[in-house]
Amino acid sequence: MANYRRIIDNLASGVRVDGAVLAELIGPAEERVREYAAGLAREVAEQHFGKGVFLRGLVEISNRCSRGCYYCGLRAENDAVRRYTLEEEEIVAACEEGYELGFRSFVLQGGELHNIEQGIAHLTRRLKSTMADAALTLSLGEQSEATYRAWREAGADRYLLRHETASPDHYAMLHPSWMSYESRLECLEVLHRLGYQRGAGFMVGSPGQTVHHLAQEIDFLGRLRPEMVGIGPFVPQSATPFAKQERGSVERTLLMISLVRLTLPKALIPATTALASSDEAGTVRGVLAGANVVMPNITPARVRGDYAIYDGKKSFGSESGEGVALLTEELARVGYEARMTRGDHPDYE
Ligand code: SAM
Repeated sequence: MANYRRIIDNLASGVRVDGAVLAELIGPAEERVREYAAGLAREVAEQHFGKGVFLRGLVEISNRCSRGCYYCGLRAENDAVRRYTLEEEEIVAACEEGYELGFRSFVLQGGELHNIEQGIAHLTRRLKSTMADAALTLSLGEQSEATYRAWREAGADRYLLRHETASPDHYAMLHPSWMSYESRLECLEVLHRLGYQRGAGFMVGSPGQTVHHLAQEIDFLGRLRPEMVGIGPFVPQSATPFAKQERGSVERTLLMISLVRLTLPKALIPATTALASSDEAGTVRGVLAGANVVMPNITPARVRGDYAIYDGKKSFGSESGEGVALLTEELARVGYEARMTRGDHPDYE
């Protein structure tokens, strides 16, 4: 692949790169290709964010879910997981503790439930009234436009809803037939219309994914232009239909982070927990590939182990609220500065 530099340079300059050509780079994810893409990705990130990496306190508010995603341990049919839903008081206390630690950006994530509009609106209003200078991101799956609007009006700033794959056929392999790709895209459209900073994203190495699907991701994200993009390797979960499938490649994930950074220079791209759970140095490697967000887990420790979306998920150590000093040190060692500010997308500041 002699002309890989030209292909990556083209992507960085906004020239459309043919999917088949991109797939040839992504497939082998060779070291020299990864390093070249990562070098450019770091330069681009630095132009917009300096050497800053935004920290967000992550609270996993409930592991109950009505969905059936084949890859996810929270799927409704899984009875091997101990279910929990945090009380409003516990969530507020977790955020207040995070606020004391210095966090000014929180993410409330959970399985998809449909009787939560009022509860989440109330919680959002309460958090925004006591911590007015903090940003609030929700990630609670597909909801009606009315619900998204109620949460936005209550003060939610951002919403994470990964599209999971840019291919409708591949989406159908990852989800039961009653889940619809069109509905997911529609939700992403609505979120944009309501003024949320919205996050899309996908897994690398999910069952049935080809390198052509990954190349499609670049084109898809270039058109969708979400403010945030979550990219993590697929990790099998023992109580799901995909328990015996191979895990996604860390190296390919890193290359995808770099290519997405070059496609969306100002995006907020987390070094995901799935990446950190797959590689001892995953967080730092993600940042060096172009990521600029880390989400330490501040969920109450008593339930933290129950948010078992995949096996071996990290939630303690530098992946946790208690581990912020350690994470700050790890980032500083490679020349990056942990920032606990709101961390908005530059176009929203
Ligand atoms: N229910 C919300 C939703 O669907 O957007 C938020 C929670 S959901 C568990 C968050 C993300 O976890 C999913 O979008 C998916 O990409 C990721 N995830 C689930 N199972 C995974 C697995 N086995 N390996 C890696 N990532 C996984």
